[in-house]
Amino acid sequence: MVSALTQIYNHLMALALPNSCPCCHAALSPHHGGGLCPPCYAKLPWWNMGMILAPQLHRLIDSYAAPCLYELPLRPLLLQFKFSDATHLSAILARLLLPVVPRHLPNSLIIPVPSHAARLRWRTYSHTVLLARQLSQLSGIPQHSVALRRVQGGLPQAELTRAQRLKLSGSSFAANPLIIHGNNIILIDDILTTGTTAKACTLALKRAGAAQVHVRTVAYTRPE
Ligand SMILES: [Zn+2]
Repeated sequence: MVSALTQIYNHLMALALPNSCPCCHAALSPHHGGGLCPPCYAKLPWWNMGMILAPQLHRLIDSYAAPCLYELPLRPLLLQFKFSDATHLSAILARLLLPVVPRHLPNSLIIPVPSHAARLRWRTYSHTVLLARQLSQLSGIPQHSVALRRVQGGLPQAELTRAQRLKLSGSSFAANPLIIHGNNIILIDDILTTGTTAKACTLALKRAGAAQVHVRTVAYTRPE
C-alpha cells in the first residue's frame, strides 16, 4: 500500500515538475544532459579507468564496463530508483548506460539481473527489468526479462554482509537455453560491488549456451 501511494505521489510530482532535474529539482529544458541539469550532469562520478582499475572478475565474464562510480550525486538516484518507486529514472539511467553497451555484436540480447523474489513481494516493479527495457528501446537490441531467473531463497543482496555475498554460489540462477543458446548476452544491473552476482548469472547463462556474456552496470563500487 505504501508502495502504491509512493508511486502515485511520484507520478503527480512528475506531472507537476515535468522538466525538473531529479538531483537538484532545478527546472531544465527537455533536451538537457540526458534528463539531468547541466551542473548535475557535469558532477556525475564518471569512472576513469586510467585512475581506478577495473575489477578482476570471473574468467567466464567476457567484458565488464560501467559509465560511473557509485558515488554522489548518482548514489541517491540509484537508491530512489531501486527502493523508492522512482521508476521514471529508468530513462535517465539507461541513457547513462548506452555508451558502454556493445552495439555491433551479432545475435546480442539484453538480459536484466533478476530482482530478488522477496523484494518483488514488496515492490510492484523490477528496477533491472525497467532498465533493460529502456536500454533495449534506445539501442535497438532486443531484451528478454524472464530468460534468467533466481532459483534459491535467501535474503536480498543489500541485507547481506560482503562476506556473505562472496559465499553465495553460482547455483542461485538458472537460464532458459531455448532463449539464451548461441546468443551474445549483455547482462544489465544497477551496481557492481563484489562481482558475485555477475559471476553467478554468467555461470548460469554459459551453462545455457550463451556464446559471450558482457556485464554492464550503471555504477561500479570501488573497493574501500
Ligand atoms: Zn540538477
